[in-house]
Amino acid sequence: MFNAILLNKNEDGTTNARLTQLDDAQLPADGDVTVRIDYSTVNYKDGLAITGKSPVVRKWPMVPGIDGAGEVIASSHPDWKEGDAFVLNGWGVGEMHMGCLAQRARLKGDWLIPRPPGMSAKTAMAIGTAGYTAMLCAMALQDNDVTKDSGDILVTGASGGVGSVAVAILSGWGYRVVASTGKSAEADYLKSLGATEVIDRAELSAPGKPLQKERWAGVVDAVGSHTLVNALAQTRYGGVVTACGLAQGLDLPGSVAPFILRGVRLIGIDSVMAPKTRRIAAWQKLAADLDAAKLAAITQEITLADALVKARDIIEGKVRGRLVVNVNV
Ligand code: NDP
Repeated sequence: MFNAILLNKNEDGTTNARLTQLDDAQLPADGDVTVRIDYSTVNYKDGLAITGKSPVVRKWPMVPGIDGAGEVIASSHPDWKEGDAFVLNGWGVGEMHMGCLAQRARLKGDWLIPRPPGMSAKTAMAIGTAGYTAMLCAMALQDNDVTKDSGDILVTGASGGVGSVAVAILSGWGYRVVASTGKSAEADYLKSLGATEVIDRAELSAPGKPLQKERWAGVVDAVGSHTLVNALAQTRYGGVVTACGLAQGLDLPGSVAPFILRGVRLIGIDSVMAPKTRRIAAWQKLAADLDAAKLAAITQEITLADALVKARDIIEGKVRGRLVVNVNV
């Protein structure tokens, strides 16, 4: 038997989440690698799954947890053997396939990537999907020729998981980062991660003009809706906006003016189905470039039982940085 969070759908369509015990027979049959999970995380999407606020879970019952790190226990996949250290992010795990907020999981070997040498399971999960997505955004800026000399980079949702890691990565690479947050009390925290300036998210969250004063050479947006539209309207000629999140909303209530008059490029970032080569590149860069002291400052360690409570907090925007779940306490 092992501990796991289990989600069920009630007869009236509402959902419930509880900490329980499962056995190996309850793990999915469609997996070729059985793993021991050492650490998992609570991402925004896990918050949606656990609270039932949005229909991200498409199979019931479900173990949530889109991220996991630990060791392989048994494998019939050619790339994996007992004792191998892995990281798992996305691929519908915790949504359509039982996930990693548990002490064990059965996954597909094709989904796993080797944990970078020297990186602990706890560090990998302190980074998690949020941090790996922040790296995908930062890499997209680099790939599209936004350099540290191009100008200011705006990071929205800055005190959240994606935002905090994006601030740490980009400032570490020498970019001048402007952090947008709704939490004025977190200004010192964001500066300690490397932000040069902190702005109130209210400056970006209301409807604005289609073209505004040019400010940003690049943007990492975790928020969507009016915030993304205003970020586009404030992006400098030829600048690059990476869009990965929807904390304010899924809508994009704007105009094409920034694209057709300023050549602004909008790049969508998806972590869930990102190809394996891109994942490995992102994790290698995270291992090499993310400052360990900054990551520690971002991270809060919690238990499986705490995850049930923190899921609600993350949806209410009350969580700072990253939640790493020690599934064995
Ligand atoms: P968090 O909840 O940790 O951070 C989101 C942050 O957004 C909050 O901390 C808050 O920051 C800000 N925010 C919250 N509500 C609002 C609002 N109503 N209006 C404006 N800003 C708001 O989540 P994550 O960082 O883990 O994820 C961020 C987003 O990215 C989520 O939408 C998530 O679903 C998405 N995501 C997408 C991925 C992909 O593959 N594309 C992968 C990972 C995440 P502050 O108070 O500082 O303003």
